[in-house]
Amino acid sequence: MKFFQITVTEIEGKPNEILAKVYRQNNMERAASFVDKGEITMEDRLGEGKCTECGNTEWDVKPFTYNDYMNGGNGKPNIECRNCGYITHL
Ligand SMILES: [Zn+2]
Repeated sequence: MKFFQITVTEIEGKPNEILAKVYRQNNMERAASFVDKGEITMEDRLGEGKCTECGNTEWDVKPFTYNDYMNGGNGKPNIECRNCGYITHL
């Protein structure tokens, strides 16, 4: 039996740099290139970055899992509010 624990580290950078990094980590190079060109911005994706349920502005980027594939995941990086657990995507 094996268990794995995911370590949380802050993703540094300005909002659009973070968005491009997260897209690249999810093998979304095309979307990342749109961010680089200013055609997609963090503000487009997440407004002021506030959770619609509780107003928190800190998010965990969820790993894309096997279950996401099996459940027809949209391929977009899911994010979870660190305060209330609300899940949306970038
Ligand atoms: Zn929340």
